[in-house]
Amino acid sequence: MTNYDFDFFVIGGGSGGVRAARIAATHGARVANAEEYRYGGTCVIRGCVPKKLLVYASRFADDFEDAKGFGWQLPRAEFHWSDLIAAKDKEIARLEAIYQRNLEGAGATVFAERAELVDAHTIRLTSSGRTVTADKILIATGGTPTVAGDAVGLEHVITSNEAFDLKDKPKQIVVYGGGYIAVEFAGIFHGLGAQTTLIYRGPKVLRGFDEDLRDGLMDALEARGLNVVTERTIKGITCSGGRRTVELDDGTKIEADQVMYATGRRPNTNGLGLEAAGVKTGKSGEIIVNDDQQTSVENIYAVGDVTDRVALTPVAIREGHAVADTLFGTSPWRVNYDQIPTAVFSTPELATVGLPEHEARNRYDSIDIYKSQFKPMRATLAGSDDKILIKLIVDAATDRVVGCHMMGPDAAEVIQMAAIALNMGATKADFDRTMALHPSAAEEFVTLRTKQ
Ligand code: NDP
Repeated sequence: MTNYDFDFFVIGGGSGGVRAARIAATHGARVANAEEYRYGGTCVIRGCVPKKLLVYASRFADDFEDAKGFGWQLPRAEFHWSDLIAAKDKEIARLEAIYQRNLEGAGATVFAERAELVDAHTIRLTSSGRTVTADKILIATGGTPTVAGDAVGLEHVITSNEAFDLKDKPKQIVVYGGGYIAVEFAGIFHGLGAQTTLIYRGPKVLRGFDEDLRDGLMDALEARGLNVVTERTIKGITCSGGRRTVELDDGTKIEADQVMYATGRRPNTNGLGLEAAGVKTGKSGEIIVNDDQQTSVENIYAVGDVTDRVALTPVAIREGHAVADTLFGTSPWRVNYDQIPTAVFSTPELATVGLPEHEARNRYDSIDIYKSQFKPMRATLAGSDDKILIKLIVDAATDRVVGCHMMGPDAAEVIQMAAIALNMGATKADFDRTMALHPSAAEEFVTLRTKQ
């Protein structure tokens, strides 16, 4: 027992912070958690969860269209944005309450206010003005969207934060960026019937992903009628009577009701008192941590997006869990960052685990590539142009599968399972030996025979 008010004070009630607080409390630590906004953090409140609900909504248009090919005669479907947002808000409020309840249920003290560091063991709660002390502190304050670039008129743009709560569905929208959030939201608005233009500064979206997936997605977006403008930047945005005019660097002008910037996120470290406590940060304000999530100050730890390493919810959760077990449990452990599966919920969906081809070529002397592009069975009667793309990358020396990629319906579900195989060190021979499940799209992964 220490002389501090708490054994463990967690700043941030998102995925990483809540997991760490709950696990530490179950180990018997006296835990507190402070959250200045809403419990659940980015993922639950204005990230993964509401995004996926909107993605579901956006894909019904395809379902109604495809249904005709299967004998269904449907009246014209109408979409009501306000109904969707109200239903989404209700679900998010339910999840938020569960997050808070679980924390309290585990025995943690919850402060629904902002917390800042005064020194390495002292925290000031800014609304109440109260000061508390803690032996160990965890910073899990996440990140926030950045509005990057030097365009004039940036006050007229929204980010993903606002996109979830727009009063009306835009009739025309410009989405700027080529990363996860840009392609996901462009797909959402396009699917919901907004005239959508995606503007990206590079030649094709999703830099860093396997080139075949990037090419496949670019083709698919074009085939679906989404206007993708590449190798252009935004020079300025003007707004008149609620209508925005976006001017690109080549002088092109595009009219829209909304302009959404999805140009990356930065760690939430402003005004946290890191300097006062002696916590070192990097050039984007990210907290620098070692393999145990420990900062430059021995008793202060950080997990999740605030460290700007792998900005994915499951990673933050693992990191929080590892810190709590290591500090307060009996078996210390570290997060394994190999083979993290990830999905982009664009339409069509992309998912991947392991290395893209360009990275595999750098890492291994010789690799074998197996890939296939085919029409999903549903598209035959639906008459759509949809394609599925699958790809395996194999280290020729060991036969180990080092990359597994998919574009197409339910790619995230398929790749989550493939990630188990890759984590176990599956070889191409293991894939080949696995019986196909017919008829499915995923069976193609075990029937690939021809090297490219
Ligand atoms: P990303 O880093 O994925 O993408 C940012 C995009 O903005 C890139 O295309 C980048 O271009 C572009 N960009 C950056 N700076 C500028 C600039 N000055 N001018 C023009 N364009 C610019 O960030 P996101 O905001 O999309 O997402 C943040 C992170 O959140 C992701 O990396 C991911 O880790 C996580 N996330 C995960 C999701 C999931 O798991 N499904 C969903 C959403 C987010 P360039 O590529 O040329 O640098």
